[in-house]
Amino acid sequence: MKDYQEIINRIFEEIQPLLGKGNVADYIPALAKKDSSKFAMVVKLLDGKTFGIGDVDEYFSIQSISKVLSLTTVIRDTDDFLKTRCGKEPSGTPFNSLIQLEYENGIPRNPFINSGALVTTDQMYSNFDNPKRDFLKFVRTISNNNEIDYNHKISSSEASVGFRNASLVNLMKDYNNIDNPVDEVLKTYYNQCSIEMNCELICDTFEFLTNHGKNPKTGKRIISIGRAKRINALMLTCGTYDAVGDVAYRVGLPAKSGVGGGIVAIVPGVLTVAVWSPGLDKKGNSLAGVKALELFTSYAENSIF
Ligand code: GLU
Repeated sequence: MKDYQEIINRIFEEIQPLLGKGNVADYIPALAKKDSSKFAMVVKLLDGKTFGIGDVDEYFSIQSISKVLSLTTVIRDTDDFLKTRCGKEPSGTPFNSLIQLEYENGIPRNPFINSGALVTTDQMYSNFDNPKRDFLKFVRTISNNNEIDYNHKISSSEASVGFRNASLVNLMKDYNNIDNPVDEVLKTYYNQCSIEMNCELICDTFEFLTNHGKNPKTGKRIISIGRAKRINALMLTCGTYDAVGDVAYRVGLPAKSGVGGGIVAIVPGVLTVAVWSPGLDKKGNSLAGVKALELFTSYAENSIF
């Protein structure tokens, strides 16, 4: 077996010059005071072996990483959502851009930009009896962890400045692509973004995508093999903002980032890797996190290409 601990120790040394660089997501007041010199990385193999380095015990706001989870709930039993309400192409625009949405009649380019995630949340809101409770229950079930929770301080902090998300959802409502009340959709979206995890918990939560749709711990199927493939494909092509080509080029794995500084990446059939460092590059991806993943697939020789 590869010496993953040795590999991530070496990466930790090499990314040191990047720590403290980049900008934290200060447009959300509750995230503005995060320490950009923090860094954690966890690698989890499908047999449960786990390797970690850095601030592995720290919990952080998963933010857009949650978009993969809401999408999973929505396409679990049907492909219709991605045929009718949301596209599958990289946007080539910032994650919270309004411009393309009007040109394209309120149909978001993909489910991982904010407009796409808001439509996904709207669909989830329609599907669940109690969206707040049922989404959390879903996340707790797939991660086998009942402690996972929303952070209401972060969700209300984001709501207090969420004018752009409100614009996106209102614009889509005007195009008849939002079924539920806009305030409810926004509230549900801010809640899902505010969920906190540490890197190991992220690996636990996402390893059903590494394991072709099945939870490796319980053997329970979360989603079909085909849909796990499609979610991974969307992560590769749309998961890291408007830098997705650069990340695919450098890292070569399906990945989803969030403005909290976390990134999850999948080596299908082999391992799940999560990194966290709150200093973001200009496109919104964790600066040290992307570098760490780039070094990881180079040293472990395990990109999908
Ligand atoms: N809640 C954040 C927002 O809507 C998520 C952004 C992100 O992580 O990409 O701005």
